[in-house]
Amino acid sequence: MAERTGGPRGCSVAGCGGAAERSLSMKKVKDSGLELGDDSARKAGLCKEHYKEYKKLTKTDRVLESIGR
Ligand SMILES: [Zn+2]
Repeated sequence: MAERTGGPRGCSVAGCGGAAERSLSMKKVKDSGLELGDDSARKAGLCKEHYKEYKKLTKTDRVLESIGR
């Protein structure tokens, strides 16, 4: 597996020891509602499962926004 410099190495979600598959803005991940173990970094790493969860959470937000107008 190729390692990218500067990005998170593991999943940033609290209690998860998975390998980071995606690197996202810490703020965005926090806003999605996922609980992060270490939020001092600029980027949050998400494993496959938590990236799926993140997408689900952000999608729900958008649906609620469009319904609520
Ligand atoms: Zn994870």
